[in-house]
Amino acid sequence: MQQAERVVVVGGGLGGVAAAIRCAAAGRPTTLIEARPTLGGKLNIMRDQGFVWDIGPSLLTMPWVLDDLLQAAGSSLAAELDVVALPSACRYLWADGTQFDAMTSLPALIRNIATINPRDVGNFMRFMTYAQQLWDLSADKFLYTPIAGWQSMLDWQMLRNGWRLDGLRTMDGAVRSFFESPHLQQVMNRFATYNGSSPYRTPATFNLIAWAEFGLGAFYPRGGLYRIAEVLHATAQRVGVDIRTATTVTGIQHQHGRVCGVTTSDGDAIATQRVISNVDPQVTLATLLAGGAARAQRLARHELSTSGFVVLWGLRERYAQIDHHTVCFSPNYRAEFADTDAGRLHATPTIYLNHTVGYDLDHAPLGGQNIFALVNVPATRGCQIDWPNMAAGYADLMASQLETHFGLTGFRQNIVVQHILTPHDLAQLYNAPGGSIYGLASNTTLSAFMRPAQRDPQIAGLYYCGGGTHPGGGIPLALLSGKHAAQLVM
Ligand SMILES: Cc1cc2nc3c(=O)[nH]c(=O)nc-3n(C[C@H](O)[C@H](O)[C@H](O)COP(=O)(O)OP(=O)(O)OC[C@H]3O[C@@H](n4cnc5c(N)ncnc54)[C@H](O)[C@@H]3O)c2cc1C
Repeated sequence: MQQAERVVVVGGGLGGVAAAIRCAAAGRPTTLIEARPTLGGKLNIMRDQGFVWDIGPSLLTMPWVLDDLLQAAGSSLAAELDVVALPSACRYLWADGTQFDAMTSLPALIRNIATINPRDVGNFMRFMTYAQQLWDLSADKFLYTPIAGWQSMLDWQMLRNGWRLDGLRTMDGAVRSFFESPHLQQVMNRFATYNGSSPYRTPATFNLIAWAEFGLGAFYPRGGLYRIAEVLHATAQRVGVDIRTATTVTGIQHQHGRVCGVTTSDGDAIATQRVISNVDPQVTLATLLAGGAARAQRLARHELSTSGFVVLWGLRERYAQIDHHTVCFSPNYRAEFADTDAGRLHATPTIYLNHTVGYDLDHAPLGGQNIFALVNVPATRGCQIDWPNMAAGYADLMASQLETHFGLTGFRQNIVVQHILTPHDLAQLYNAPGGSIYGLASNTTLSAFMRPAQRDPQIAGLYYCGGGTHPGGGIPLALLSGKHAAQLVM
């Protein structure tokens, strides 16, 4: 019997590993080539002085997408990971002393909304019905279906439902039409940052993200998010993926409009007619594909999603005010996004904090706390921020803001160890354009249609997956992109 043709996956981020596992589990000989020493891409970890930090994702949503992948490989999420449904999706803090815990149990959530503004309880229920409707209208089309190009997304049903997707006003415009409380408006607007966009520009359609978190839940795998990368690595090995880490793909070859092989940094040339690139499409075109420069330049005209300024703090003592997920809000959200849009750093940024010692005591020395702090900042493309000279000062500004506005007394004295990742680091670590976290921004009504599809429109046998492609960034979406790419290959 003739052996099935080999699939080569370039990059072992979540999209790439998902694609490789699915191809191999379906019986296709599969090689996965990853430049870094470990798989997982942005799902990454750091350890120092007894502290352990997830340095990429800290929130798991839609865990059934991961389960679906593991089931395709003959296992299941329950068999591989102990996933906790969080009792509170996030704690929100304001400098005026207001606190809002977004509980995942509805009665507790309603109590907390009523404390902020009793009239917003009914508004919240109406908003959730609306957000769920947006989800129901778009999930099948935009998330769960592979697309060959934007044309394939348009059909009669899409045109009929288009107006119900609320794409003509902004997220903020819709949120303000539901909620009275500025605090709750800010909470709902924050979901724009889940795809690296601005609530003041992104279409209201993305209010569906509020449903994904409030309605479908927020999760944490015990041991940390990096456990997902470890489980996927072991799964890929088990289903027979030929995994080559610490190996960079230097080129994707093509002849007569069809892929014919890849070359690697260790001098290997692998002949294949099927390549799935988990490297951002713009970077793939610009650096790996001969003749791809013009198309890369066209993609580079689109706005990138935000990047992140990440500070990892190891603290000697814990702060009970910091919940598993905590957001310390800027007093002027609109000005913060205006600064980001203009390529500037905001003086009083919104600071997202995560720690995991509540579930994993061994993530810090006894009594200590492992803080991951993230501020959304502009991607480096077209932006003049002098990160090498700004980074330490900005981390100090964040720490001082936590002390003076959010009651974390003595925060700076409590720091045992600090690490910083700037957008330049994210760009370099993951080969991400401009250090953007989610590829292209979703700041226009048509942005969902601009995201590169899984199938290359010009080179047969070349496919893409990952957060820079359809359906978008974030753990579940990157995993789905890998599923779509594998489906198209097979
Ligand atoms: C700070 C931060 C916080 C985040 N928070 C969350 C969160 O809380 N929840 C959530 O769901 N998502 C979050 N995300 C987003 C999420 O991590 C990403 O969307 C997802 O992991 C991207 O996966 P990917 O498939 O695009 O691969 P990537 O992670 O982009 O990996 C691509 C891989 O390709 C490799 N590569 C690149 N070039 C080559 C080459 N030439 N040869 C071989 N290999 C190559 C890279 O080394 C990398 O490993 C966060 C991301 C960051 C950075």
